Amino acid sequence: MEIKAILILSAMLFGISFFMHTFIIPNDQSYNRLDFMPALALLYVLTQTLLISSVNAFRLMIAVLYLGYAIMRLLTLKGVNLSAVATGLIQTAVFFGSIQIASKLPIFWLNTINILLGAAFLVLSILQLRQSDKKIDRDLSEINVIGFIALLILSLSSGYYMLNVGTGVFCLHQLAELVIYTKHDRILRTSVSTRLKELENRFERTVEFEAKKRTSVMADKIEHIREKSQKDPMTKALNRHGLTSEINNLIRDPAIKIFSIAIFDIDHFKSINDTKGHIVGDECLKFLSYTFMISNRKTDMLGRYGGDEFILIMPHVNAPAALEICERMRGLIQSKSVPKFTISLGIATYPYDGRAFTSLLEVADKGLYKAKEGGRNRVAYDGNVFIKNETK
Ligand code: GH3
Ligand code: MG
Repeated sequence: MEIKAILILSAMLFGISFFMHTFIIPNDQSYNRLDFMPALALLYVLTQTLLISSVNAFRLMIAVLYLGYAIMRLLTLKGVNLSAVATGLIQTAVFFGSIQIASKLPIFWLNTINILLGAAFLVLSILQLRQSDKKIDRDLSEINVIGFIALLILSLSSGYYMLNVGTGVFCLHQLAELVIYTKHDRILRTSVSTRLKELENRFERTVEFEAKKRTSVMADKIEHIREKSQKDPMTKALNRHGLTSEINNLIRDPAIKIFSIAIFDIDHFKSINDTKGHIVGDECLKFLSYTFMISNRKTDMLGRYGGDEFILIMPHVNAPAALEICERMRGLIQSKSVPKFTISLGIATYPYDGRAFTSLLEVADKGLYKAKEGGRNRVAYDGNVFIKNETK
């Protein structure tokens, strides 16, 4: 084949490959489609190896190829793809006048520049390898080492044997690049749908998690508000609203067959307030509430009915037991309170003294009145249950 025909063929192949590289496959999408550049470069080198008979021309071809290639890669690392066009033009120009140029150009310097450029290209590749988090970039950077080795062999060789070894290594480099592009292209295609699914799932999970989190925050807030609306802030006992709803819950609960309530208040509380002040009065109320809360069963509930009046709810407790509990509490307050104060208590038992809060409260109140009348600091019961040895 005539040398001119070979050169035209080479120029066409290279021109097409650069065109594809530059225009068809834009830089930022270069991994979305198969990149023809390595494939055509491979074809080009094979053609040169098989068809060119002058060692000098061959070396010049390879050198210019690498020179262009290295410049292009150097620049495209920064995303400038115009370099590919420039390289294509240089190549084409060299192809058409290669024989004349080959005899005039100092091959030694061409090779030296080639090696320097190749080395710079290699260093940049390694830097890119360290920085990039894209798999394809890392893969390409790795195989660029092979490209550099090929360049070294080609630039330093002086006979067909070595030239062919260099070309072989170069082919290997191009082939590896081709495989990487194709593989990543396929991976990308197949993984798009799975990634979409993954994203969809992740999105669903996030939404679900957020919804749950918000619901739980809302539930906490509601619980907090409910507690706040049901509790007396000073004594931490239930407020009147809380008391009423707890007693109504017990009445409605089919598992509760019996329960007692005790209403109690501080004896002569007014005089404590008057002589020792309201702050001390408040402390007495807090002490009373705290003592009742810690001294009774977990199922018992304490509420502040108003002023110095409290109600203790005792589930599953009958009247005699309620009397006993109240008597124990009365003694405890009498002995432990500072400043010293006493309490009077009146009790009522569900269902014997009433089936509603109001009727139970009426009986308990009667007991309290009886206790006050009887001289205070005592427990009294004025209900329907017969009790053998009523205290005091
Ligand atoms: P009795 O033995 O008959 O119960 O006499 P008492 O002085 O305790 O009379 P009563 O129970 O009617 O008085 C309740 C007093 O409690 C009246 C009010 O000044 C006082 N009080 C009500 N709420 C508070 C409070 O939150 N803090 C203080 N320090 N005193 C309160
Ligand atoms: Mg009182």
